[in-house]
Amino acid sequence: MKAAVLRGIGNLNVEDVPEPEPGPDEVKIKIGFCGLCGTDPENMEGRFGLIPPEAYLKPQIMGHEASGTIVALGKNIKGYKVGQRVACDFKGACGNCYYCRNKMEHFCQGAHRASGSFADYAVYPESAIYALPDNVSLEIGSFLEPVSVAVHAIDIAGIHPGSTVAISGAGPIGLLCLQLALRAGASRVMVSEPVAGKREVAKKLGADVTADPKENLEEIGLKLTEGRGFDTVIEASSDLKAAKLAISLAGKCGMVVWAAVYPVEAEIGVPPFTMYAKELTIRSVFVSPYSFPRALNLLPKLDIKSLITDIMPLKDIKKAFKLHETRKPIKILIQP
Ligand SMILES: [Zn+2]
Ligand SMILES: [Zn+2]
Repeated sequence: MKAAVLRGIGNLNVEDVPEPEPGPDEVKIKIGFCGLCGTDPENMEGRFGLIPPEAYLKPQIMGHEASGTIVALGKNIKGYKVGQRVACDFKGACGNCYYCRNKMEHFCQGAHRASGSFADYAVYPESAIYALPDNVSLEIGSFLEPVSVAVHAIDIAGIHPGSTVAISGAGPIGLLCLQLALRAGASRVMVSEPVAGKREVAKKLGADVTADPKENLEEIGLKLTEGRGFDTVIEASSDLKAAKLAISLAGKCGMVVWAAVYPVEAEIGVPPFTMYAKELTIRSVFVSPYSFPRALNLLPKLDIKSLITDIMPLKDIKKAFKLHETRKPIKILIQP
C-alpha cells in the first residue's frame, strides 16, 4: 500500500509499505479521509514538544484524524463488522492505569496507538473507533477528533447562556469552538484572525464581530461588552501574543482557555496583579478526554463543510504540507 512515511526530521515521502494487519483487539480500516492537523508540520519539522528526538530514529507513518471503512477484524472484535464506516481517535485508553482510573484518560500510560492514517490502510484498537451514523459522510467523519478537542475546550470554558466570548484563531479548532460556544449559549462572540477569508467563515458561522489581530482587539472587545471584557477567552491560534492578550481581553472573574499547542521553549509573562485584580482563571486544553461520544453526536449538527477548504490525494502530501504553511486553508483532508 501507499503511505506517507516520515524518516527523520523533515523527510516525509509517499512510499510503498506492507499493509498493516490487525492484532486480536484491532480492526483494519481502509482510510476514507485523514485531516492534516496543525501538529503534523510541527512533528515533521521536529518542533512538536511531545515528540522526543529519539522518536525520529524510527520510520513513522503520519496522520491521526481519520475516517474509513472496516475491511478486517481482529479475533476478539465482536461489536463491529466488515464494511462498517467508522471515525477514529488515534489512540485508545487502557482503562486500567492510574490516570484512566482517576478521570484523566488523556494521560493514559497504557494507551494503545493506531498506525498512521496518511495511508491506504491503518489498524486501530477497538477502543479508538466510533461507528458513523448513516447521515454522516466519511469527509465529515474525519472531523471527529478535532470536534472532540473543541468539545473538551468548551467543557473547560465555563460558557453560560448569555456569556460573552472572544476566540483568537479561525482555524478548525477556533471555528468549531465558535459553533460550540454559540450552542452553549454565548450571546456575543468576537473572533480575531489575520486571514480575511477565515474571518468571513467565522462571520457566516455566527461571530458577531470579526477582527484582524493587527487591530486594537482590546478596544473592540470593550465596545462589544459594555466596557467589561469577555466572560471567556479561547486562544486557538498558537500565537504567543494572542495567548498573552487573552489575559487582557478577559473581564472580571473571566476564564482564559489556551486551546492550542505552543513551542516547548516558549514563555509569556503573566501579570499576577491583573490575575488578582480580575480574579482570572487560566486553563489549558490537552487533547480530548471523554469527548468522543459527544463529538460523534455533534457531527451531523455542526457546519463542518465550511471548514473543508481542500481535499488532496495522498500522493500530493508534500504539497498539502506546503499549502498548510500558507495559513490560507482551514482544513486540508488527505484522500488516499
Ligand atoms: Zn490533531
Ligand atoms: Zn490508562
